[in-house]
Amino acid sequence: MDSFLSLGLSEWLVKQCKQLGINKPTPVQENCVPAILEGRDCMGCAKTGSGKTAAFVLPVLQKLSEDPYGIFCLVLTPTRELAYQIAEQFRVLGKPLGLRDCIIVGGMDMVTQALELSNQPHVVVATPGRLADHIRSSNTFSMSKIKFLILDEADRLLEQGCTDFTKDLEGILEILPAKRQTLLFSATLTDTLHELKNIAMNKPFFWESKSETRTVEELDQRYILTPEKVKDAYLIHLIQKFTDEHDDWSLIIFTNTCKNCQILTMMLREFNFPTISLHSMMKQKQRFANLAKFKASVYKILIATDVAARGLDIPTVQVVINHNTPGLPKIYIHRVGRTARAGRNGVSITLVTQYDIHLVHSIEEKIQTKLKEYPVEEKEVHKILTQVNVTRRECEIVRLPLFFTFQFQLKKNSKIYLQIIEPELTAKRKAELEKIKSQKKKFKQKIQENIQRQKHRQLKKKLTKRKQMKRKKAAQETA
Ligand code: AMP
Repeated sequence: MDSFLSLGLSEWLVKQCKQLGINKPTPVQENCVPAILEGRDCMGCAKTGSGKTAAFVLPVLQKLSEDPYGIFCLVLTPTRELAYQIAEQFRVLGKPLGLRDCIIVGGMDMVTQALELSNQPHVVVATPGRLADHIRSSNTFSMSKIKFLILDEADRLLEQGCTDFTKDLEGILEILPAKRQTLLFSATLTDTLHELKNIAMNKPFFWESKSETRTVEELDQRYILTPEKVKDAYLIHLIQKFTDEHDDWSLIIFTNTCKNCQILTMMLREFNFPTISLHSMMKQKQRFANLAKFKASVYKILIATDVAARGLDIPTVQVVINHNTPGLPKIYIHRVGRTARAGRNGVSITLVTQYDIHLVHSIEEKIQTKLKEYPVEEKEVHKILTQVNVTRRECEIVRLPLFFTFQFQLKKNSKIYLQIIEPELTAKRKAELEKIKSQKKKFKQKIQENIQRQKHRQLKKKLTKRKQMKRKKAAQETA
């Protein structure tokens, strides 16, 4: 099967695909589109970047064109940026239909969203938390007639990670009709398969990419073994090399915390690299603006936490650098999947410290591929080491507090400020507090003991007095 027409899609949709350069179905589309058109529930597990979004957008649009009404389809996805990306694909492919979509995500104005929901859009793309908020707080829209429920990055939605979506999902599922098609898609689906099966109503059509490896062949997967202290110098060296050699390439650097993300961004800017960041401690509008600037190649370097690890589709990304080795193979797969998408080439480089070697082994086992060492001229790295470390320290001490106080208008001594910016100071304060507490406790104990002793003394006095009285009385009686 080599054309979208033979999958059962209408001519107007095939034409629309062609206009966007989507000519031949990818395997996930070839397998899942006919099943969805047949009316079956579907679970699709395919490598990231293999056209999963279009695999559900196309059949939904076809069905919508046959019987258009709102709200026809609900798509749930774990991150706000992914929601925008999915809505964009619906909008572009569904343009001839005059498709009306609505994006419901946190960090944006709730009243505007409520108004949009009440206008009965054809497609709602949402993150679970904000949609559940709307369900709890308003009765101006109904989802009781939706035809399609789609869980994109389904495993993330159903796993109980740092953001647990299960409560919100329960609230959402309650207002959906039992008679619907449920479609579940992800690049790493198998672990939570049993849970997913419970959600799908009928016996679902299941399709999984046959390939043994979970990453694409076009991806050149590398590692660099480095001591923790030299990591940043390697990073700067790599960025310098890639930007010198390929001025049209974009790079994503993943790191583990929001704080690190911000520090690295500031540091790279100090070295004059056009850098922008994406993490969950930024205001939502800033997140969208930064992503748009990166997509438009205004900035060629994006430093991100795992909020950007899944699904984001940016064709110019040629390199992914893991500043920290991901703790879970699954996260590695999603991170490196930001490059080498839709048949293009890409490179991923993971910075590995001596403490991360076991993590690399479990990643290699999962992806069934051995990471190759990336050759680096160590002399060049050592030349910049001191400058890099001094710059980092300066960013940590001077620039980071300024950023967070501005971002959140935090007071310098507020709890959250101290936790984010000065964890060491927070630890010191905690220790001091503990000391004061234990001193207070000792003091209290001493007072109690003193009181007891005093009472004891008074009692003793009373008793001896009574004895003396008794003795006196007895002496008087005998006299
Ligand atoms: P996804 O895996 O859905 O994030 O898609 C990755 C990229 O592949 C997106 O830029 C899509 O526009 C593109 N794409 C989707 N389907 C096809 C196709 N059949 N042929 C070529 N590119 C495609």
